[in-house]
Amino acid sequence: MSGSKCTRLTGALVKPVLDSVDSVLFDCDGVIWRGDQAIPGASRVINLLKESGKKVFFVTNNSTKTRKMYVEKMTLMGFNATEEEVFGTAYCSAMYLKNECKLEGKKVYLIGSSAMRDELQAVGIQQTGVGEDHISGKQMDWANVDLNPEVKAVVVGFDEHFSYSKLNRALQYLVQQPGCLFVGTNRDTRLPLEGGKAVPGTGCLLQAVETAAQRQAQTVGKPNRYMFDCVASQFGVDPGRCLMVGDRLDTDIMLGSNCGLKTLLTLTGVSTVEDAEAHQKSGCAERQGMVPDYYVESIADLLPALQG
Ligand code: PLP
Ligand code: CA
Repeated sequence: MSGSKCTRLTGALVKPVLDSVDSVLFDCDGVIWRGDQAIPGASRVINLLKESGKKVFFVTNNSTKTRKMYVEKMTLMGFNATEEEVFGTAYCSAMYLKNECKLEGKKVYLIGSSAMRDELQAVGIQQTGVGEDHISGKQMDWANVDLNPEVKAVVVGFDEHFSYSKLNRALQYLVQQPGCLFVGTNRDTRLPLEGGKAVPGTGCLLQAVETAAQRQAQTVGKPNRYMFDCVASQFGVDPGRCLMVGDRLDTDIMLGSNCGLKTLLTLTGVSTVEDAEAHQKSGCAERQGMVPDYYVESIADLLPALQG
């Protein structure tokens, strides 16, 4: 890579960058959509990239949807996408538990969504734990709750039913079950919403379990390189000819840097150019991984080069 980092990608600069890659990885929320609203022009960018022969993949830390659910959402928004192109943390965690932890045919304690349950089931991993777990009404003997002796791992993803009861059960599995593995989908602590609002992300739930267990989980999602390895192992992606597009410096851009990809920050989501410049100017080696090669106001800025 020549030239300085954090360059605005506009006008005549766009085409040479697109010509220099064969594959493009898109983060989802804040890049191609915000919540249920597509970013204007995003579907045309994705569809034109694919028509021009690029391989396009979707890489999201959101563990609340299966690949099938993502394709349904994308199709409604006008994106051409297939299940094989979608790498969400529900699917990637299932791949991780099967291929790295060798848990096919085994059982896990899942703090997570029914989408995660379905992705785990699809690779032959059973779960216990999905849904509500509110034990109340009497003084509980918390350290002696019923545990399933077959459980080989505690897995934590986004769970709207997270409770003290689940936190306790996770702790009891981790301390009472010999060799129990501990895996989290991702560490995003806050999920920003429109109008400056935010809600707690999976990182909050994972940290609660880690604090209780006095143990660190292995995480699957960005910025861990497992997400990229998942894509690369299935599609033979050359890191040097791959562009990672994201709205967060600490997850998306860091993933790109960790894997030797070219990186593009888009300003339709969480991070700002000022954030990137602060990392750049800090002189701190670790923070340089959060400085993107390029930035755009929106991925719609890529359109003229694709249409021309
Ligand atoms: N986790 C959850 C539960 C979410 O709802 C979201 C965004 O909607 C994310 C993570 C972040 O997703 P992404 O990696 O696509 O920005
Ligand atoms: Ca995002």
